[in-house]
Amino acid sequence: MSRMIETTLRGPAAYSLARDALARMEAANVWPTPLNFELWLHYMGDPEGALGREIERMIADGEAFTEEVAEALAAQHLPRARVADEIRDAGAQLSRELTSVATAIATAQKSQAAYGKTLASAGAELGAADPDNVRRLVGDLTAATEKVHTENVVLEQRLHASTREVAKLREHLEQVRRDAMTDALTALANRKAFDDELERACANAEEENRPVTLAVFDIDHFKTFNDTWGHQTGDQVLRYVASVIGRHAGKPRIAARFGGEEFALIFPNEPSVVAQSVLETIREEIASRELKRRSTNEDLGAITVSIGFAQKLPGETPEALLDRADEAMYASKRGGRNRVSAAASVGVKAA
Ligand code: GH3
Ligand code: MG
Ligand code: MG
Repeated sequence: MSRMIETTLRGPAAYSLARDALARMEAANVWPTPLNFELWLHYMGDPEGALGREIERMIADGEAFTEEVAEALAAQHLPRARVADEIRDAGAQLSRELTSVATAIATAQKSQAAYGKTLASAGAELGAADPDNVRRLVGDLTAATEKVHTENVVLEQRLHASTREVAKLREHLEQVRRDAMTDALTALANRKAFDDELERACANAEEENRPVTLAVFDIDHFKTFNDTWGHQTGDQVLRYVASVIGRHAGKPRIAARFGGEEFALIFPNEPSVVAQSVLETIREEIASRELKRRSTNEDLGAITVSIGFAQKLPGETPEALLDRADEAMYASKRGGRNRVSAAASVGVKAA
């Protein structure tokens, strides 16, 4: 997606873009499903683009805009991962838009119903004394009002349907957001989520003058393990290590898969001395378990992890904290692996 559209969807023009997209969709008899709306937003944001040209061609040729067609257009023209945030914003805007339109229609309906009543009673009064043509005129007006009323009911139903679609879109986008923050193999937080969480934990610690400790884990000799047992069994080990770390990561701690065979554990509000004993427990738990290959039940032996940890210093950036925890992890490697090391400046020596 071009930067131009990104900017438009976030800027003051977003409402009119959403409105225009809806109006054009209605004119072209296209239902405002989440996907259609997404496509139309992009089309309206960049009518000269490939997607815009294709949609305009379809409209000109009178081609039906089916679900399959929408899917195909989306697959070809929408870079899905990158647009997720923009769609969420646009979806929220659309929702607000629909709510305000629905309110406007409800108000209009009320006044029209009152108008109809007035006309009906005027008709009854006139009926007694006045010529037929006056009664007919009033009758026509009442019929016209009823017709408008019926149309409004249909319109309102359509808007309700759109509102439901938007709610579904929101739910879907929330799922997309969760997926985007989760590591698919281990279900721990992924690197992106880790970066965000570390940033937040450090900011909170700084603001509230509380401690925060960060630990980094790296599996020992994992390349050899993979070479011996294969990548798939290696993945099994990654899930196992993740499950042990995860079990010790109750709120507010955050466990993450930080790299291929590297993990991290953030300890918000916890000093390094507390973290250290948790890390020793994790290390021991992993090293003491004899692993078996799931498919064949072969003994794989035990695997071990090297761990480094650091407590944030006042004013220290998340990057600097991570560097120190990483450096401590390498100290564990140099020291013979399967151990826990504190960063030099923390002042708590690992066993
Ligand atoms: P060290 O004790 O020094 O950490 O040795 P190592 O072999 O673990 O270190 P190195 O960083 O050289 O190797 C990491 C290996 O992790 C390389 C790769 O085979 C493996 N690895 C990385 N990501 C994955 C993954 O997603 N699945 C599997 N099965 N293996 C992975
Ligand atoms: Mg490594
Ligand atoms: Mg390793």
